[in-house]
Amino acid sequence: AHLDRIGEVDGAVHAFLHVDAEGALAAARRVDDDVAAGREVGPLAGVPLALKDVFTTEGVPTTCGSKILEGWVPPYDATVTRRLKEAGVVILGKTNMDEFAMGSSTENSAYGPTRNPWDTDRIPGGSGGGSAAALAAFEAPLAIGTDTGGSIRQPGSVTGTVGVKPTYGGVSRYGLVAFSSSLDQAGPCARTVLDAALLHEVVAGHDPLDSTSIDAPVPPVVAAARQGANGDLSGVRVGVVSQFSGEGYQPGVLHSFEAAVAQLKQLGAEVVEVSCPSFDYALPAYYLIAPSEASSNLARFDAMRYGLRVGDDATRSAEEVMSLTREAGFGPEVKRRIMIGTYALSSGYYDAYYGSAQKVRTLISREFDKAFATVDVLVSPTTPTTAFRIGERTGDPMAMYKADLCTIPANLAGNAAMSVPSGLSDEDGLPVGLQIMAPALQDHRMYRVAAAYE
Ligand code: GLN
Repeated sequence: AHLDRIGEVDGAVHAFLHVDAEGALAAARRVDDDVAAGREVGPLAGVPLALKDVFTTEGVPTTCGSKILEGWVPPYDATVTRRLKEAGVVILGKTNMDEFAMGSSTENSAYGPTRNPWDTDRIPGGSGGGSAAALAAFEAPLAIGTDTGGSIRQPGSVTGTVGVKPTYGGVSRYGLVAFSSSLDQAGPCARTVLDAALLHEVVAGHDPLDSTSIDAPVPPVVAAARQGANGDLSGVRVGVVSQFSGEGYQPGVLHSFEAAVAQLKQLGAEVVEVSCPSFDYALPAYYLIAPSEASSNLARFDAMRYGLRVGDDATRSAEEVMSLTREAGFGPEVKRRIMIGTYALSSGYYDAYYGSAQKVRTLISREFDKAFATVDVLVSPTTPTTAFRIGERTGDPMAMYKADLCTIPANLAGNAAMSVPSGLSDEDGLPVGLQIMAPALQDHRMYRVAAAYE
């Protein structure tokens, strides 16, 4: 049924870069066989899922939305891919994304943008717009995204779906093509909080193949989502981050946020205001740290190892082939980030740029710690605006970057954060998201609040 639905609507939505109908049907049949043979299957066995094209999938193309990886077929599965398969989850295909996860609209995909199913003239968010659009268009009930600065939560917000960035290190990065290794985090996308929790528990957990994977029990997110469903938040302390409002926020988004806070109070939560002044510097710090790490990570696309190779006609040096390939294979935003990152890391500038950004990062972590000493979770709008129009921000990188104003602090500090649907804007009738943030390894706290709110 989901493959049929993809056939009907994906021409207009373009959530998928690759549909693996054969693989999906074979996986579904294996679950049928297990059930027929009386073998025990997990809670998500047989449930279809859309996988962001940033995860390696054995025998299935993986492009990261880039021409430089066109035609590359990975010889191995990412840990996330492997865990999904072991759980009997049916992977329908690979979803569209901004090239190497750099963007907030999927317009940076080398394969054309994804469209928001609520209004196909608008963006579905990014970089994981394909995964979020697949959920909103009912092409898949579950999806996986990655979030370096907001790429799970912001698409969730603008498509009216649930998107979760688990605690950094909670889900393995092995086989996840690296953008900014100290920020990248894979996580679940779904249409309900409980669905996200069930998927979270399938993909999370320690992995010896990822040196930053946390060796601790997975936070009990399914139990928390079930507990939250009773709608009782008495005893829960919620902090409203005062930095996330005012200029640049659409009135419709702020109205929805005020209504959300009122509802949390009604459910019994105690709400206080919390000030985190360094959060104002999160965006500039991120746009030094993320490009710095990207400039190093993307050096592996050297025309020798993967995919595209341009100008290799035995007259050119390896350096020339490398240069021609990178010139042709990377899009403008990726080139911009490589240049910013190379500059920020260069001798003489390192302390002023990269070094200062790392100090801001420490201040942000401390402000989170201080806030979480008095509240259980923090809340804010997920993103300052509803879905903008395709093309509206492509000429203005700063306007594009501002979509992640509220989401980036959690990446810099490594704590857990999610977006849950918060109704429709009274301005334009488009979906709005509520962001809920929790301390590292306390992911279950935000699931409880989200399930009660939902
Ligand atoms: N929009 C942000 C960026 O362009 C975040 C992307 C992400 O989380 N992968 O870097």
